[in-house]
Formats: sequence, C-alpha cells, structure tokens
Amino acid sequence: MQKIIAANWKMYKTRAEARETAAALARHLKEKQPEGRQVIVYPPFTAIAEVAAALEGVTCAAAGGQDVYPAAEGAFTGEISPRMLQDAGASWVLTGHSERRHVLLESDELVGRKTAFALAQGLSVMLCIGETLAERESGQLRAVLQRQLQAGLAEIAPADVARLAVAYEPVWAIGTGKVAGPQEAGEAHAIARELLREIIGAAGESTPLLYGGSVKPGNAAGLLALDNVDGLLVGGASLDADSFAQIIFA
Ligand code: PEP
Repeated sequence: MQKIIAANWKMYKTRAEARETAAALARHLKEKQPEGRQVIVYPPFTAIAEVAAALEGVTCAAAGGQDVYPAAEGAFTGEISPRMLQDAGASWVLTGHSERRHVLLESDELVGRKTAFALAQGLSVMLCIGETLAERESGQLRAVLQRQLQAGLAEIAPADVARLAVAYEPVWAIGTGKVAGPQEAGEAHAIARELLREIIGAAGESTPLLYGGSVKPGNAAGLLALDNVDGLLVGGASLDADSFAQIIFA
C-alpha cells in the first residue's frame, strides 16, 4: 500500500523561504522518484500558492492547508474557506491538529464540522487525533481516540470517506523530541483502526492512518514498518528539504 508522507510547516517560512524549500524538495522528487509514496506539504496559508507552483509537475506531491473554516464564505474574520484553499492550489487540509485543539482550544465538535464541510467541498482531509501525557498515564488512550474520532467523523458523508486520512499524533510527542516507541505507536494505531471500522464501517479498513510526533530521518523507517502505519506527518524535520527527503525515501 502507498505511504503518505506529509510535512506540516506550522507558522514557519515566508513565501520566499517556502518557495526555496519546495523547489529543493521538487528536485529531490524528480531526481529520485519515490515508489509508493504520496507527499503532501502543508505550508502557512500565505505560501500555499508558492508551494503548489513549485510542486507542479511532481505527480506524487500536493499542497494543503493547515486549517479551514466550515462555511463557504461570510463574516468569519481571520478564517479561510475550502474554496479559498483550493483557489490557492491546496487539495488537502489538516483538521484537529493538536496545536489547534490545545493552543487555540478548538472543540471536538468544531473539528467534526470542519472535517465534514471540507470533505463535502472536495478537499481531502487529514483528521488529527491524539492523547496528552496525562490522558495516556491515566489509562484514557482508547477513550480519547474514540471521542475524537466519533466527533471528528460524526457528520461525514459515506461518499467522502475515500478522501479521508487520519493522523495519530500523541500530544506528548509533538515537537518534544520524544517519539512513541513501536509498542506505544503500534497499540494506538491498532485501537484507531478498530475504532475507524466501528465508526465508518468496512471503509475504515483502508483509511490511511499516519503517525506523527518527532519523526526524524533516523526513526522514519522503523515507524513505517509498523502494522497499521500508512504514513507519517512530520513537523520540525520537514522544514529542511534534505531532511524531509530522507524521511520520504526511508
Ligand atoms: C506536527 O506538527 O504534526 C508534528 C508531528 O510535529 P513534530 O514532527 O515537530 O513533532
């Protein structure tokens, strides 16, 4: 099965910096076409068009937005619509990233509305889920993933499931240098797969399930070899094209 390797650039890079990194990444991908890899880059909104242009002609690569608002247009200051993302060149969007849940205090319910609306508008959606350290240590891993998946997928139309991916990102492993070990990641992915089957039925068997949290060139291959790990969502190590390319080719 194809693996999805995604880059989340968070609030880093001006347009010129994004153009340079995306062009370097495009060179890597053209030079050594990765087999069985789909690459997605999520730059800040201001740089989506630059990244989409730099990746044009690289068939395995696409650009995406880091967030979206669940309305076609309107009085929602500071927000961005699916159509605006598509107009900038995005075909993917992240929903429910842990920094949006925990820093911007987005609710499970809002994440669910974003996921359903973005899918309905034709975007592919990568819904992010994951527990905090306190939740894991108090035995709530399954309950948290269940709550986030149930709310996150509550309103999606069956016809849109084919454009859905889920990223499991333990909050304690994001940007901390702590990566979930094979046992921790394997256990969480097995739970997430089971929940996906329960919530969306047989289609949940083939929904790509990515791991994210301090992925680096040195640990990518081991993570990709785990059962139910269909790809990686990479933050810090994706900011440099060479380091991200090493993860893609891991
Ligand atoms: C992320 O931003 O989704 C992420 C996993 O970040 P990092 O790789 O830096 O932990």
